[in-house]
Amino acid sequence: MEKPVYAPEGKKPTGETPFHVRIMRKRPDIKAIVHAHPPILTGFSIAGSGLLQKPFLPEPILEVGPIMSVAYDTPLSEQFDRVIDLSDGFLMENHGALFCSPFSITDAVERLQMTECMAHSILVASLLGNAKPIADKYVKEIDEVIKIRNLPMPGKPGLFSSISMMYH
Ligand SMILES: [Zn+2]
Repeated sequence: MEKPVYAPEGKKPTGETPFHVRIMRKRPDIKAIVHAHPPILTGFSIAGSGLLQKPFLPEPILEVGPIMSVAYDTPLSEQFDRVIDLSDGFLMENHGALFCSPFSITDAVERLQMTECMAHSILVASLLGNAKPIADKYVKEIDEVIKIRNLPMPGKPGLFSSISMMYH
């Protein structure tokens, strides 16, 4: 991370560079970060309901973890410090979303797309009047899937020994 930051076409690096660099320093397990402003997730970031911190769909639970909120602030780095260990997916209030991957940039993009789709589904469920999370006993079963598939636990390595610990 001491190398110069690459920005294409002779442009200066974006003002969002510092929090990307800070995240990589705090979480050396992370190989790639994707930050974007996808419309549904950004809508949730404006609403600020904390709804995405609940367990709704199995795949995003075991691939990303609870989507933690990052408070609106300038600069953003210190707000990321508060939550960066707790998941691999983040909603930046009134701004957008950020996803980390311990594998690759392609995987980070897939995590973003998967979570945007989940947010769309939760929005529809909310419109229908009942966005119902998965019951605790079934969230515990997802721990078994993680073991069988030999997947890394979301969040800082070693911090959580089970998915159930991440959702409370
Ligand atoms: Zn942005």
